[in-house]
Amino acid sequence: MGYPDLTVNGAGHLLLGGADALDLAAEYGTPLYVLDEELVRARMGLYAAAMREYFPAGSRPLYASKALCCKELCRWAGQEGLGLDVVSAGELYTTLAAGADPESLCFHGNAKTEDAVRYAVESGVGLIAADGTQELERIDRVAAALGVRQKVLLRVTPDIDPHTFKAVNTGVVDVKFGVPIPTGQALEAAKLALGLEHISLEGFHCHIGSQVFDAGPFRLEAEVMAAFLGQVRRETGFIARTLNLGGGFAVAYTPEDPRPDLAGMLRDTGRRLGELFAGMEYPAPAILLEPGRSIVGDAGTTLYTVQNVKSVPGGSTYVALDGGMTDNPRYALYGARYAAAVADRAGQPKDAAVTLAGCCCESGDLIGENVPLQRPRAGDTVAVFVTGAYNYSMASNYNRVPRPPIAAVRGGTGRLIVRRETPEDLIRYDL
Ligand SMILES: *Cc1c(COP(=O)(O)O)cnc(C)c1O
Repeated sequence: MGYPDLTVNGAGHLLLGGADALDLAAEYGTPLYVLDEELVRARMGLYAAAMREYFPAGSRPLYASKALCCKELCRWAGQEGLGLDVVSAGELYTTLAAGADPESLCFHGNAKTEDAVRYAVESGVGLIAADGTQELERIDRVAAALGVRQKVLLRVTPDIDPHTFKAVNTGVVDVKFGVPIPTGQALEAAKLALGLEHISLEGFHCHIGSQVFDAGPFRLEAEVMAAFLGQVRRETGFIARTLNLGGGFAVAYTPEDPRPDLAGMLRDTGRRLGELFAGMEYPAPAILLEPGRSIVGDAGTTLYTVQNVKSVPGGSTYVALDGGMTDNPRYALYGARYAAAVADRAGQPKDAAVTLAGCCCESGDLIGENVPLQRPRAGDTVAVFVTGAYNYSMASNYNRVPRPPIAAVRGGTGRLIVRRETPEDLIRYDL
């Protein structure tokens, strides 16, 4: 299992997917992303099974590939029965290169270029989520030129704030994504879509945010969307075949975070949807969900080697690592919190509180502050937990730092699924 169920072997070394973290660091070098393949596949399987059990026929999870996008992850998703959510031409290219069935893809993005739309339509992408009226018209135009009819979802904003768990008026419709329901614009856009000849409106998409820890916000989302579907039916006669409720299922990052009950959240949401559509006498649409973080987040761990340790009297203890914001920008971006351990003493008490500092020439390049840790020494291997989502996919080459490789571990054995970048990779675009 992933963090916080961490395990150590007889020597007291941290185990990742059954492999000794120190052996992985020695074999592949650091910094290194380690991914527990069995945990990722188990999560994918949990979604697939729960959606078969609790949701209407035809429902299925789409792995939100932006959380961690590489060819091997796309293959695992296909093997475990998931489709894929892609948000750019680059993600689309990756999934197709991995052999994904184009019909299983949903193409998102709030600013799709005509070229990207053409690429998606030509590739036979199952669904395009149109972000507004101009995109509906753009997709229609492209599909007309190619002589096809493209299935689309219309992305709407349902006015739900998952964190205050209250519908509020303007705050959450005033975002860059989607067409607002409360202003009447979503209904108008649906009418437009229904009149476009080279578009087949299949239904609607919404995504309420991320790090949702319980079913409440998803039940509310189901209620708002069911009411909207009812309104569209009354006004136009249109019955949606597909309702995509997005992602946002949480993971626990630190021991203080609650541990979300994914299966329970899926069961409750599925049941609420069943009640709602039965109550409205509405033919239940197939439901799509787009989990990203909750599939890969806690299956990932980053291993670093401590280069220097510096204590400032009356200040902090800085632990300088051989990676940083280039492989994990989330503390610099949003103050995201992480837990860590020294790999060869992972089971021992954490008797220090340190600043984990990255190697970039930037004071804000930190992985965390006041992070409890076994007292670190130069040369130690430090594991930072729950780095599977939005780390590799957000990594950069700032300071010309090469991106780390990803080792997948299964049954105690590691193998590379993404190789380490080389200095040659760093100059390959330079003319
Ligand atoms: C980001 C995003 C997701 C995935 O969100 P997670 O919090 O990683 O589950 C799914 N769908 C859409 C449209 C998104 O933008």
